[in-house]
Amino acid sequence: TYVVTENCIMCKYTDCVEVCPVDCFYEGENTLVIHPDECIDCGVCEPECPADAIRPDTEPDMDKWVEFNRKYADSW
Ligand code: SF4
Repeated sequence: TYVVTENCIMCKYTDCVEVCPVDCFYEGENTLVIHPDECIDCGVCEPECPADAIRPDTEPDMDKWVEFNRKYADSW
């Protein structure tokens, strides 16, 4: 899955939301989030993010971000 990380805080761009083929972006408290179970790992959102906030969970130390994204995505 891809996850939204700290650079998203207060970002006003939604370019990522527009390109996602499965509509798995949701609104969190201060950020957008990606639902980890709905993301199909296509990667198209990553280069669209002007804040470089969208990262693959295969990078180091991403577990907390997966949980962060799940927490807010699940609250919808
Ligand atoms: Fe959506 Fe693809 Fe980004 Fe996952 S990687 S959030 S499916 S655009």
